Amino acid sequence: MKRRWKTFTYLPCEYGLQSEKIREIIMSTIFEKIISGEIQADILYQDEICIVIRDIEPQAPVHFLVIPKKVIPRIGDALQEDQSSLGHLLLTAGKIAEQENLSSGYRVVINHGKNGGETVPHLHVHVLGGRQMRWPPG
Ligand code: AMP
Repeated sequence: MKRRWKTFTYLPCEYGLQSEKIREIIMSTIFEKIISGEIQADILYQDEICIVIRDIEPQAPVHFLVIPKKVIPRIGDALQEDQSSLGHLLLTAGKIAEQENLSSGYRVVINHGKNGGETVPHLHVHVLGGRQMRWPPG
């Protein structure tokens, strides 16, 4: 019994994975829990490919997230086979922005990795609007 536990614990390290990668493999993210219904969120829209929720910590009067149901950790991890799903995320972002009356303008953001400001390792498209955006971003 003890030997089996040790094997499970050390296996990812034997493959040379960094602790962040190991955490991603073992832990399901908050967005997976929202997709499965385990955790509640303010859902604006969903279909077989994505779910759209209001951000819990909005950075603008309107701030929602378009999240693929397939687990893709971040944009740089997307595969060729994800091409149509990625397009669907952007089309959905535009559709929900219209629904949220953002016709005077909005910003679409994807954060990749630590320097990009990513905090949840499950791809998501931020849509922010309802105020004047500035450039360059912080
Ligand atoms: P990022 O920093 O680009 O990874 O964005 C993660 C976003 O998820 C942040 O804007 C958070 O405020 C948002 N967020 C985290 N937990 C939740 C939640 N339970 N419901 C809605 N949005 C969330």
